[in-house]
Amino acid sequence: MRIILLGPPGAGKGTQADILSDHYNIAHIATGDLLREEVDNDTALGQKAKEYMRKGELVPDSLVIKMVLKRLENPDTKNGFILDGFPRNINQARELSAGLKDKKIEIDLTVYLETSEEVIIKRLSGRRICRSCRAVYHIVNVPPKVEGVCDRCGGELYQRVDDNSQTIKKRLMVYEQETASLIDFYKGLDKLYVASGDIDAQQLFHNLTEVFGKKIAA
Ligand code: ADP
Ligand code: ZN
Repeated sequence: MRIILLGPPGAGKGTQADILSDHYNIAHIATGDLLREEVDNDTALGQKAKEYMRKGELVPDSLVIKMVLKRLENPDTKNGFILDGFPRNINQARELSAGLKDKKIEIDLTVYLETSEEVIIKRLSGRRICRSCRAVYHIVNVPPKVEGVCDRCGGELYQRVDDNSQTIKKRLMVYEQETASLIDFYKGLDKLYVASGDIDAQQLFHNLTEVFGKKIAA
């Protein structure tokens, strides 16, 4: 199963990709996570990406596309993968199509999580992340048992530098300008399923497994 998740920041792509990758035993490839890891490890790529990310701008295609195509070589993608946060503009989408064609594999379905701005802003501004295992919490919707501490591993919870109201606005603008047109791109390829990103994550998961089930049977 090979899936692309599209949707604005805060649509719940990461949460849904986590659940789906567990369920189908496929790799979860989140470009934001990959880039944050590079930044944390202070690699050459991380140093180049850092300022763009802090400002809520896209990291240049020349860096991101190479990173993703390399990641797709990893054996854990054999059974399939779910792309979360990539592609983010038309050039990335075209390069992805070309890269997959070279590998003789195809995307089964692109899912667009249509999400209201009100939900997005509430989710992003309350989001907290574990420094060790990257589990995602929300101070109101999904609070940890002990404030500031990860339930899963005891790690420290932090707020992403780009989860402040000013950078959230910038990220939404970039999404509208660069990423939103991908909805039509994938609609044109007849591979788009539109779901609501506003609903509860478990309900959404249930709906998506039904859609994928039909897709596999077809
Ligand atoms: P969100 O979807 O909540 O904005 P991500 O974790 O997906 O968060 O991305 C965080 C940041 O990482 C983006 O604002 C951007 O700077 C960078 N980034 C992630 N994916 C890409 C991509 N495909 N192309 C360019 N930059 C990216
Ligand atoms: Zn943790």
